[in-house]
Parts: sequence; structure tokens; C-alpha cells
Amino acid sequence: MHCLNCDEAIVFDDQLDNNEPFQCEHCDQWMVIELDEGSYEGAIKQNVIMLDENNLEDYS
Ligand SMILES: [Zn+2]
Repeated sequence: MHCLNCDEAIVFDDQLDNNEPFQCEHCDQWMVIELDEGSYEGAIKQNVIMLDENNLEDYS
């Protein structure tokens, strides 16, 4: 995937826990993957959202 902020490629550790905030190594933007399991197809969609400092506190 690419960073939502700086558009640089981000490499994920496959062991990354879901809903674990991570930081772009290029621009230090914090992001988190949200899983949307509400699809009627049963597929899990992954939405990447940017976190600001206030959001980050909710995840710590
Ligand atoms: Zn970035």
C-alpha cells in the first residue's frame, strides 16, 4: 500500500496486529488499518485511516 499522506510505499510486517497503529517511515504520519467485516460477501475490507495525535491516544 501507499501512505495516505506522502504516497510513499509502506511495507507491512505480516505479523502486524489488526488495529495496531503504525507510522509511515517517510513522513511519520500515524495510520491504522480498520477492518470492515460488514460486507455481505463475507470479505473483510481493509480501510487505512490517518490518525492525528488525539486519535492516537484512543489506541494507546
Ligand atoms: Zn508517509
